[in-house]
Amino acid sequence: MSEENTEKNKETVKTLLEENRVFNPSEEFKKNANIQDESIYEEAVNDREAFWAKHAEGVEWYQKWNKVLEWNVPSAKWFVGGKLNASYNCLDRHVKAGKGGKTAILWEGEEGEKRTLTYDDVYKAVNKLANAIKSTGVAKGDRVAIYMPMIPEAAYAMLACARIGAVHTVVFGGFSSDSLKDRIDDAQAKLLITADGGSRRGKVIHLKEIADAAVAECPTIEHVLVVKHASNEVSMQDGRDIWYHDAVEAAEEYCEPEQMDAEDILYILYTSGTTGKPKGIIHTTGGYMTSVTATTKWVFDLKENDIFWCTADVGWVTGHSYIVYGPMSNAATQVMFEGTPDYPERNRFWKIIEDYKVSILYTAPTAIRAFMKWGTEWPEGCDLSSLRLLGTVGEPINPEAWIWYHEVIGKEKCPIIDTWWQTETGSIMISPIPGITTTKPGSATKPLPGIDATVLTAEGKAVTEGGGYLSIKNPWPSMLRGIWGDEQRYKDTYWSKWEGSYFPGDGARIDPDGCFWLLGRVDDVMLVAGHNIGTMEVESALVDHSSVAEAAVVGIKDDVKGTAIAAFVILKEGHEPGKELEDTLKKHVANKIGAIARPSKIIFTAELPKTRSGKIMRRLLRDIGEGRALGDVTTLADANIVESLKAKYDDEA
Ligand code: ATP
Ligand code: MG
Repeated sequence: MSEENTEKNKETVKTLLEENRVFNPSEEFKKNANIQDESIYEEAVNDREAFWAKHAEGVEWYQKWNKVLEWNVPSAKWFVGGKLNASYNCLDRHVKAGKGGKTAILWEGEEGEKRTLTYDDVYKAVNKLANAIKSTGVAKGDRVAIYMPMIPEAAYAMLACARIGAVHTVVFGGFSSDSLKDRIDDAQAKLLITADGGSRRGKVIHLKEIADAAVAECPTIEHVLVVKHASNEVSMQDGRDIWYHDAVEAAEEYCEPEQMDAEDILYILYTSGTTGKPKGIIHTTGGYMTSVTATTKWVFDLKENDIFWCTADVGWVTGHSYIVYGPMSNAATQVMFEGTPDYPERNRFWKIIEDYKVSILYTAPTAIRAFMKWGTEWPEGCDLSSLRLLGTVGEPINPEAWIWYHEVIGKEKCPIIDTWWQTETGSIMISPIPGITTTKPGSATKPLPGIDATVLTAEGKAVTEGGGYLSIKNPWPSMLRGIWGDEQRYKDTYWSKWEGSYFPGDGARIDPDGCFWLLGRVDDVMLVAGHNIGTMEVESALVDHSSVAEAAVVGIKDDVKGTAIAAFVILKEGHEPGKELEDTLKKHVANKIGAIARPSKIIFTAELPKTRSGKIMRRLLRDIGEGRALGDVTTLADANIVESLKAKYDDEA
């Protein structure tokens, strides 16, 4: 990197946290790892296109591409002219290779119901469903909305769409009818696939009823396919609604996969809505399948005999890339679970790991912080010795949560992979490669091979050490191809900050070893006494205190200081809020990371406003702190939380 293009120590976002612990994989892990030496990074740097072309061979193509990449900022085309099918890659090729008898899905329902499905089973189910979908009039390019509980049929539905070239848009089963309606409307979907109901903590969620309310206002929907799952009563509209089992029973056994162009759309998925109105992110087939297939092998070190468990819902990108397409393209055996971690008891996850001998666990920091809050007795009562690798995704993981995960769940023998990526990126971008990376609690470490991530100043100068804005310089295969129906928003959101570089919207610090530390969203950065401070480090300083389970900080307008830091804090069980603890915590932050980050106000709360995917919505806390009307709340998991927080805040102010 040339000198004039480099700003050393002139950071855009100030960094405060110092974390010096490092961890290396065991000799045993290294010896058996899929990736054992660093040359993979070099190979990618030397010729990025050749590198990705090599990894595109991890997918089976009907017709090979004639050009690896066509790049006209901000429009990328990967594997131009190539033809493939995602469903074929997740199913047919394994069956053909004699793996039909291998277990694909170990499903468990909330009340302990079990289903074991082989690749043969899934193959048959998907073929029939694909024909059933066709017979409702859906053709290649049409959009199909999927609104389902976490049952195998959700994966079948996605793969069946992929098989016939229909574009799926999965809407998380916890969304309201309004949110479902908005997404169906935006995507102009013709078919909705749903279920009668799903279960949530012993109660039935009446999905069909919610779907009915949405569909009543969606003129594009011609048919609704309904899976019988919870057996709750539903009303079926004549001519429109079809029972899934009837449709599948009547369907032919085999459905020839559509030969899709590499750049044909595989799916549209709406972002979580943490920072505002969700965006319909477009992913295409060839590049996406290449990236998810490769990263599953590198990052999860997936082997033939692993039992993989990603606890995300299929309604999020994590479920798309690391339940359905990545693992299934690699013929993985995986656990799929319909319930929640605390039903019927707080040891449910650990019981599942014990029962199925899960070897790879991929979950979210928000879950880990809840487990910490509940106490170690829950995991300690179960046998977790089958685990060999632990991953996290969704938010920055605070160092204390990382250490807890490492010690209490991983028994200090499992590498931890903190994976940074987004709905937009399609696959993991910054993450350790477990057999070769030295990990640091709180750091996602390094960009994966073939990913050109950097930290830039607002002016676009590279920061070689310190904080700034995360950026990705060159296109990568699973990159989003646009926002559905809004080309301008695509350009404005991701490509207008700098010339030719992608802007993910997150702040990051780069350390002297070249490791990346995600600092939180740029929208949430707090300008305090002339310094930009990210939320992550202040929150981590709070979580570092033995009484704190979770914290969210926001900058709010202050007449004297300009901006003051307000901290919303959830205590661990057994700790009482009070003035004394408030002062202790303020002091703790000042001691740990500096007086500049000392919160002016601490608000103890039992819960924080989160998206339905579990991410903290700081913009709503800012609205509360500054006495504004609340912004877009449609993606909020529980509206009561903000109402009671607002009341509490106003009381204490
Ligand atoms: P919206 O874009 O609508 O506001 P969202 O950004 O929450 O929603 P997702 O695509 O689900 O939607 O989330 C991606 C974001 O999650 C990243 O941009 C980042 O802020 C955060 N994130 C994910 N993984 C990590 C991680 N390992 N470390 C830090 N942050 C992470
Ligand atoms: Mg986002």
